[in-house]
Amino acid sequence: MTTAGLPGTTPTRPPATAPPPVSLDWHDGWHFTGGGRCVLCNRHTVLRSHAGEDVHKVCAERWLARNPGKDRFVSDLPRGRRRGTA
Ligand SMILES: [Zn+2]
Repeated sequence: MTTAGLPGTTPTRPPATAPPPVSLDWHDGWHFTGGGRCVLCNRHTVLRSHAGEDVHKVCAERWLARNPGKDRFVSDLPRGRRRGTA
């Protein structure tokens, strides 16, 4: 007798307590022009998001991991793809 393929078996899922890691690419220097308090943890930060929010990168990544599908924080464009600055 076999127990394989029983109806109602659920596939293994990652634990809900471990959100998938999100990695933001903030290589542009202007991200370091902040100097206020992080909007997420309320501690001092020199970082700034695209929307102008003072926020730690790690806090933004953690927020994104907990809010999948949101675009409150986004990565910079890849290097070498310059916007029309002719
Ligand atoms: Zn923070």
